[in-house]
Amino acid sequence: MLLMGVDIGGTKTACGRVRADGGRLSIEQSVMVPTFPEPNFEVSLRQVFAAIDQCWSGAVRAIGISAPGPLNPHAGMMLNPPNMPGWRDVSLARMAAERYDVPCVIENDANAAGLAEWRMGAARGCGIVLYLTISTGIGAGLIVDGKIFQGRHGLGAEAGHVSIDYRYPEPCKCGSRGCIEQLASGAALRRRGLRAEALSEDQLDEIALMLGAWLGSLVSLFDPDIIVVGGGMSNIGDPLFARLRRIVPLRTINPFAEEIPIVPAELGPEVGIYGGAAVALSHSDL
Ligand SMILES: [Zn+2]
Repeated sequence: MLLMGVDIGGTKTACGRVRADGGRLSIEQSVMVPTFPEPNFEVSLRQVFAAIDQCWSGAVRAIGISAPGPLNPHAGMMLNPPNMPGWRDVSLARMAAERYDVPCVIENDANAAGLAEWRMGAARGCGIVLYLTISTGIGAGLIVDGKIFQGRHGLGAEAGHVSIDYRYPEPCKCGSRGCIEQLASGAALRRRGLRAEALSEDQLDEIALMLGAWLGSLVSLFDPDIIVVGGGMSNIGDPLFARLRRIVPLRTINPFAEEIPIVPAELGPEVGIYGGAAVALSHSDL
């Protein structure tokens, strides 16, 4: 079966025609275009459709779109993504379905990436997958028995906005204070004049302590089978992962935390295309 996987980001959109063969996904053709999120969504939507057009085949059965949250996957609607200010209450799934005359589903990018890692990446075959992407922002997806945990409004598992410092002086863009995204994301490092690939041992210790306290709390909440970490920060590799494996068991009530693998994501820059396709594949009504 052929699917169209689409990965809409704040600066660029990637799109791929994906073959699903017994649950295994492979990209047949892909293209990347700039998104132009401002001043209005019509301009960037044309870019998205132009990208799909380039990869289109009449044999494509469904479209799955990975997009920045917050969005409503049930209504197929993007709500008000902070990195795409021109897109507000956009019925993206309906517009794509009408244009291409196939079913279309949309999903939060971190949830879609987590589902892709479960289907064919680092979390293959795992029951409860906690997927985290740490780059400019921090996103998360919780996959339970191959299904995305969406929550009531499709806004579930936004672990990047779990606060670990209730007295933090600056408000987060979400309105809370001390969210892990404010403290340990790529943007947080840049605000301090730091870069993930050039941290001193002391700076790495500090970042790992914040991430470890946060991950320990998530382990207490979810007792996952595996924790998969993607995004630019995961490129630090062993110096970060070794610290997290040491710290997390100290910051959770879960006595099995040492046994929970904390591993880098496997799918790389095409994870959004795979994610979109995986979401399309998981909808039984397609
Ligand atoms: Zn926040």
